[in-house]
Amino acid sequence: MRIVFLGPPGAGKGTQAVRLAEKLGVAHLSTGEVLRQAQAGGTELGQQAASYWERGELVPDEMVERLVAGRLKDDDCQTGCLFDGFPRTVPQALMLDRLLAERGQPLDLVVDLDVPQEELQRRLCQRGRADDCEQTVRQRLRVYQEMTRPLTDYYEAFGGLRRIDAVGELDDVFDRVWAAVEEVRK
Ligand code: AMP
Repeated sequence: MRIVFLGPPGAGKGTQAVRLAEKLGVAHLSTGEVLRQAQAGGTELGQQAASYWERGELVPDEMVERLVAGRLKDDDCQTGCLFDGFPRTVPQALMLDRLLAERGQPLDLVVDLDVPQEELQRRLCQRGRADDCEQTVRQRLRVYQEMTRPLTDYYEAFGGLRRIDAVGELDDVFDRVWAAVEEVRK
């Protein structure tokens, strides 16, 4: 299966995606994680990317495309893949469509994790990661509204979008995500 996880920063995409990938036995592709690993490994791409995310900005589409195109060729992505934090812009969604069409591997489902703005601000400020300080949090939420939110319309048109209430216990949210997956597996 190929599933995209959408939702604002702080919605719990990573946690839910890791869990679902394990349960389905498919790869988990988090572009944020790949970028952080690239920085930790001291690569040039990693250093360049860090200068964007430290300001709460998105990394340019071309850099993300290179990463994703490379990762999709890995063996573990052939049976399925959960895309976490990608796509984040409409051009990235078009790019993903193209990459998947080339492989004859269509998307099965787009999960949109829904959390109210005030709750997000609270969650992100508690998380305390280096790029999550107050001002950066506001910037990340602003970038989400401007650049990523329009993707829900894009995927609404595609027809496979399921909006999931992501407030509450992790287990309860996961049950809702799982119910949506089961529906498309029927
Ligand atoms: P995440 O761990 O998904 O919250 O990503 C952390 C940071 O990495 C984001 O705030 C962006 O700066 C960058 N990033 C991750 N995925 C993407 C993407 N698909 N497009 C652009 N930037 C990204």
